[in-house]
Amino acid sequence: MLLNEANERLGTESAFTVLARANALAQTGVDVINLGIGQPDFPTPPHIVEAAIKAIKDGHHGYTPSMGLPILREAVSADIATRYGANVPISRIQIMPGGKPTMFFACMMLGGKGREILVPDPGFPIYQSAINYAGAKAVSYGLSESQGYAFSADDVLSKITPNTSLIIINSPANPTGGITPKTELDKLVAGLEHHPHVGLLSDEIYDRLCFDGSPVSMLSYPEIADRLIILNGWSKTYAMTGWRAGYAIWPEGLVDYADRLAVNIHSCVNAPTQYAALAATTGPQDCVEEMRLAFADRATLIHQELNKLEGVTCPLPKGAFYAFANISNTKFSAKSFQDTALEKYGVALIAGTSFGELGDGYVRLSCANSQSAIQSAIEKLALMISES
Ligand code: PLP
Repeated sequence: MLLNEANERLGTESAFTVLARANALAQTGVDVINLGIGQPDFPTPPHIVEAAIKAIKDGHHGYTPSMGLPILREAVSADIATRYGANVPISRIQIMPGGKPTMFFACMMLGGKGREILVPDPGFPIYQSAINYAGAKAVSYGLSESQGYAFSADDVLSKITPNTSLIIINSPANPTGGITPKTELDKLVAGLEHHPHVGLLSDEIYDRLCFDGSPVSMLSYPEIADRLIILNGWSKTYAMTGWRAGYAIWPEGLVDYADRLAVNIHSCVNAPTQYAALAATTGPQDCVEEMRLAFADRATLIHQELNKLEGVTCPLPKGAFYAFANISNTKFSAKSFQDTALEKYGVALIAGTSFGELGDGYVRLSCANSQSAIQSAIEKLALMISES
């Protein structure tokens, strides 16, 4: 077959590879503790599940509008107005099959030969993959442990060239659990004034998972509304990773392209999922708070226990549900730490190098497991380090 050479440029997400290996080991009877994959370990709250069942029983079996159900887009618009005071018309809100398609759509729209797109390193690996697939060049800006894994606006702005079409930011962040303070966001927006050709994609999928203080959305900056893309969704906030429900907010000038991509690729998000998302957004929010508090407690536990390990340091995660630990003073590389932990000690975690070059010497541990599982996983890691 004469294949499209772009296939070779597609990357992947190691969390899925490690998950498959952890499941395979578990099937052979090995006791595996999973701190690898980034998904809440809670079930989807019952009122959300019931709304989907009701939608199926009520006959919502057909296509919906490609941009999503108007009632759900209204609910998203109202939610954003309540939480961020931002006034976003539903014409700019698109319901998506999860968060990932928004980054892919954005890279398809703003990528292409000769374009440069700025991404965090370490950062979510699908950004680079989508950029490469779209024929553009990923240019990374660094996040460091010493800066609490926040980005520096000056550093990001310094990487802009006449070819830069898009900057991708993510706060709270995967894989670091870092949050970039508002002062840096203010600086970034002020600096963008000098670069009117550059768009901004703000991945806010973890915005409801801040452990200290309130989230700041880029929607709070109306001066960039004509070039701001927001990625958000229900996966992490409502423990709905398998439902595939997300939303994008596009600047007016990109809405038509986004709609055409949806029509070409997935037509629409399945209707019962959209009713589930509606129940999530308009229903009681105590489930969100309960999960947030549980993740915050576990993040504190992981932080405290990891710092007791010989050669390991880990700042307290500020949000999302990941701890990013420095293991450079152990005898392991990031990859050998990942492989040894899984194959010999039954602990699934992810090498920092899966998230970029600057992840060398680091590993990511997910807080999406019980406190007792976290405790015994870290005991196993202590043994692994002492036996090395
Ligand atoms: N953005 C970030 C930073 C993520 O960590 C993830 C998932 O891990 C996503 C987007 C994708 O979310 P979804 O599962 O809804 O596609």
